Order: sequence, then C-alpha cells, then structure tokens
Amino acid sequence: MSASTNNGNGKVVPAAYPPPVDSPKEFVKRGLDPEDELIEVGVAIVGGGTAGLACANRLLQLLADDPDLMERLGEVPVAVIEKAKTCGGHNLSGAVMRPGPLQELFPELTREDWRKEGFAFGEVKKEAVYMTPTSKLALRIPTPPPFKNHGNEIVSVSALARYQQRQAEEGGAYVLTETSATQLIVEQGRVVGVRSGDKGRGKEGEPLGNFEPGTDIKAKAVVLAEGCWGHLTGAAIREFDLADGREPQVWELGVKEVWKVPKPLDRLIHTVGPWPAKIPGKYGQVGGTWLYPMKDERTGDHLVSLGFVIGLEYADATTSAHDMLQAFKLHPLVRKILDGGERVAWGAKALPGGGYWSMPKLSMPGAVIVGDAGGMVDTAALKGVHHCINSGKLAAEAIYRGLKNGESSFESYEYMIEDSVTGRELYEVRNLRQPFQKGFLKGGPLVNLAIATRGKLPPGRLAWHRNDEKPMFMGNTYKRYPRPDGRYTFDKLSSVFITGNATRDDAPNHIRVQKHVPREVAETWKWMCPAGVYEIPEDAPEHGPVDVIVNYTNCVQCGAITAKGGRLTTPEGGDGPLYQIT
Ligand SMILES: Cc1cc2nc3c(=O)[nH]c(=O)nc-3n(C[C@H](O)[C@H](O)[C@H](O)COP(=O)(O)OP(=O)(O)OC[C@H]3O[C@@H](n4cnc5c(N)ncnc54)[C@H](O)[C@@H]3O)c2cc1C
Ligand code: SF4
Repeated sequence: MSASTNNGNGKVVPAAYPPPVDSPKEFVKRGLDPEDELIEVGVAIVGGGTAGLACANRLLQLLADDPDLMERLGEVPVAVIEKAKTCGGHNLSGAVMRPGPLQELFPELTREDWRKEGFAFGEVKKEAVYMTPTSKLALRIPTPPPFKNHGNEIVSVSALARYQQRQAEEGGAYVLTETSATQLIVEQGRVVGVRSGDKGRGKEGEPLGNFEPGTDIKAKAVVLAEGCWGHLTGAAIREFDLADGREPQVWELGVKEVWKVPKPLDRLIHTVGPWPAKIPGKYGQVGGTWLYPMKDERTGDHLVSLGFVIGLEYADATTSAHDMLQAFKLHPLVRKILDGGERVAWGAKALPGGGYWSMPKLSMPGAVIVGDAGGMVDTAALKGVHHCINSGKLAAEAIYRGLKNGESSFESYEYMIEDSVTGRELYEVRNLRQPFQKGFLKGGPLVNLAIATRGKLPPGRLAWHRNDEKPMFMGNTYKRYPRPDGRYTFDKLSSVFITGNATRDDAPNHIRVQKHVPREVAETWKWMCPAGVYEIPEDAPEHGPVDVIVNYTNCVQCGAITAKGGRLTTPEGGDGPLYQIT
C-alpha cells in the first residue's frame, strides 16, 4: 500500500473543484405531465428506510380508522419509492437503538417478538468504554453519558426495514422497489410529486433494448426520507431556501462488518480513540468504534457488529475509514473477540453530523423531510434510528391532519419535532461535537464541558465548517493500514463483493466529480471511498493535476463523496448493494 510522495502544501480545498451539477435545472421538474401520462397517489414517500417506512406504517394505521379519507386518497393512498432491490438493501447502522419510538409505533409487539422477527438481537445489559491510545493499549474509562446504552436494543436496520416493508404492504401501501426518484416536481411554488428515473440506459445515456422511461408520480403530500445525503432533499433545500440561517451540514463516514464468532461477546463496547485516528490537530481526525453483541434467536448464532466512524472534517488525504477498521480488528481488545470467527457482512454509509444547528427547515409547501435527510442524528451518542422512527411517525400525523382539513402545508410537523424526544435530545447536544473541529486534544475539554452541563455550556451556537472547505494535504495516515490477509483484514474490492452489489457494468455513471483535479483532491477521494471507486493512473504526474478514473459500478452509495467535493446522484433503481443484516 502506498501514497504519492508528493507533499501538498495543505491548501487544496475540494470545494474549489465542484461537481458538474446544475441542481435546479436537473433535479427539479417544473410542472406535471398530462394526467393520462402520470401515476397519482395519495402520499408519496421517497425512501424505504427506517424513517420513510415508519411514516408509511403510521399513516396506514390512521387511515385504517378513517375510510373516508382513505377513499379520498385514491387507489394508492400511500406509495413508498425505494431505489434498492428490496427495502433494507441500502440501509446500514450500528445499531444500538433506543426502543421507545418503535414500541410506540407497533405497541402490540413485544421485544421478544422483535427478536423472533429477526431484526432485533438482544437488550444491552453490560457495557464498557475504552480509550485506545495506541494499537496495543486499551484503557477502560467510566462510561460517559452519551455512551450509556443500558436497556437499549441491538438491531439491524436492514432487517428492520424489511420487516417494516412487510407491515406497510399488509396495511395497503404500494412499495415500489428498484425505483429511484430523480426529480422533485414543483408547480406554482409547491411540491406536487416526484419523477421516477429511467431504466435501461447505457453508459452514455443511450436507451438500450429494455429501456423504460420514468414517470411522474403526482401526490397530495411528499415525504422526503432519503437518508443522509438526499438527492431530492438537496434540491428541495435549495429550491425553498430551507437551510437559510442554519449551520452547514457536515458528515461522518462509518464502515461496518458483522462477524460470526464462536464465543458470545458479553457486553457492548465503544472505543473513543484517539487511535486508530491520529492525535495532532493538523490531521483533523476524530473517530470512534463500536462492538455490539448480536444473538440471532432464529439460528442460535453469536454475531458481533463492529465498525469505525470518522468525521469527514479530516485533512489528511490518505484517511481511509475502511482501512482504519481493518487496523482496529488487529487491536488485542478486538482480535480476541474475533478469534476463530468469520466475517459475514460488510458495508459503509455516511451519516449527517451537524446535529441541531444544521437541521434544515423540515417542511415546505406540499412536502416534509424526515430522518437522516433532515439531519436528525446525535453523533455524540451515535443515535439516529429512534429519531427516524419518531420523525416518520410525527410526519404521518401532521400529514393526516393536514389532508383531512384539505391543507397542503404541513408546518405543524416542525413544531411537533421540536416538542418531541427528537427536538429535546438534539438540542441538549447541540454544541457537543463542534469543538472537535479543533482536534482531539484541543476540543476535548469543551466537549467534556458540554457533556457535564447537559448542554448548558458552551453557550450560544457553535459554528460548523463545511467538510469540502477543509484544506487537504498528503499525510501519512496510510502507514497505519495493515496489509489485507483475507482472514481478519480485507481489501475494499472483496468487501464490496460480499455486499451483493449488483450494479450493471454498462449502467450510466451516477457519480459526479471533476475528472482532472490536484493530486490532493484525487487522493482524498481514492482513500476515502470505502468501495475503491476512484483510481489515479499509475503514470500520473507526482505534482499538479491528475486524471481520476471513476469505477462507479463498485459504488455502495455511502454518500461520502458529497461531503468532499463530489456528488452522489441517484443510480438506476435496483443497482447497488443488497445488505441483509447491517
Ligand atoms: C455507521 C453508522 C452507525 C450508526 N449507528 C447507529 C446506532 O448504533 N444507533 C442509532 O440509533 N443510530 C445509528 N446510526 C444512525 C442511523 O443508522 C440512521 O439515523 C438511520 O438508520 C437513518 O434512517 P433513514 O430512514 O433516515 O435513512 P436511510 O436508512 O438511509 O434510508 C433512506 C432510504 O432511502 C432510499 N433512497 C434515498 N434516496 C432515494 C431516492 N431518490 N429514490 C429512491 N430511494 C431513495 C435509500 O436507498 C434508503 O433505503 C448509524 C449510522 C451509521 C451510518
Ligand atoms: S463512490 Fe459511492 S461508495 Fe465511494 S464514496 Fe462515493 S458514494 Fe461512497
């Protein structure tokens, strides 16, 4: 493994090389097609993840008791549009979940039922938090409040989404899988639907023999539940100025594996670093890891979910979350847990990291934003699943009330979020994560102050700096990465292989980046991408701009590229990974 010997001057900012994208022109369609050429639904939910499906299920519960409104919403009262082959295919999380919102959504189900359904893997009874100063040392520390997980449940969001899909279909939802929503349809200042993407286009966009054009899907209400980087959410935020007066959104990237192990892990473990990240502030690296025990009630297997998450504010172009996770597995603390086991799953995904101050306005005429698309994640505690379920449920209630009263604005949803567990929890940690932008050591005391005062200090609103405006330099983090041994440590491509990634070789490119950029930017993309999508030709010059080769069919749609100067757009429906237990 090697990096260029070129020492950049640390002043190369990815934002200076923006992706070739014209969002208002490309991603917003002005007006609907004629009535006989479109599909009409009641409520269109874009994204069949935890948040979107919670919204669908809650709406169907309310409509089941209100046949009049159900009828008014037409033949398809609720449609869910999901780009993966099946719901759950593109979903990944740790995931230790606060149980409240899921219990409220499905009150008749017990936690035993969750486990029998195969999406939950046990209640947290024991936990431990470690500092890892080096690749050999682990020092147990008292559990900081954000890491307290006693009583929470370990779940798989991929399996949870599949369960929620079944419930929604039984309740009468029309779930359109393998379908990307590619354009937001706006008429007279109001969202009136979305357009689904074409299928069967070739590399250059030419129609192939099996070409099927996309369709306008007209809806009385649209719910944007696209997850961390929303293609239509981004377009909506620009179109309706929803981020006006807010802090910019920032992101983190997580890489996860699931292992089958011979001996059960008896506790949930978090490590807070600094290793495998580097301490000096100039690297800008802040990351942490998790190890969660998973007992599969149906097979009796003992599994372990483990992963590494890093803030995308880092500055060393050779930072690779995938390779840092590989290094983490060789730490004695982890190695003994995995000994004799086998890796059964791998995946990667970004999550929004800005928290409270970076949340956009959550409603616009005709539409609302739920879950990660609205930035509802507490990254200090690494908790978003319960906020996604809560926001989906509240959006459903606001839309139901609005439609009943013949309204097309669902602003009450914003107040409901603010007054709920989501608003309260995210407000409490509103300034907790920003101090780490100064580095692990300099930021640490302020972070501790925010934890100790339950968010009262530091006062005011702490700023976020855009991830793509961080000057990148060629550092040496890559020297920490182990050589893949195919037993405990793996390369990126064999990891992508086990996701079941099924992107057609001749599909059009859905990644937008400039293809001739300074080496620091190209190296940033090459190392960052967990799927090995970006390559720099071997004969590229050591200094100055280089070409970038984009092997987009490997992409697992983690979304990280959008944080560091590129843009993930929607691929053809059905492309990408097929996660099962991530
Ligand atoms: C590495 C990692 C670890 C985490 N750990 C935890 C944890 O331990 N506990 C916790 O509570 N939270 C955790 N989180 C956060 C949590 O996973 C998320 O908050 C939550 O899963 C997001 O759910 P969502 O439904 O909003 O988005 P997603 O799960 O991303 O779902 C969005 C869905 O929309 C689909 N989609 C997107 N755009 C389109 C489009 N245009 N057309 C059609 N379909 C589209 C996607 O394919 C996807 O299925 C973690 C997150 C990550 C990344
Ligand atoms: S190319 Fe795909 S997998 Fe790679 S960083 Fe971008 S979105 Fe993630």
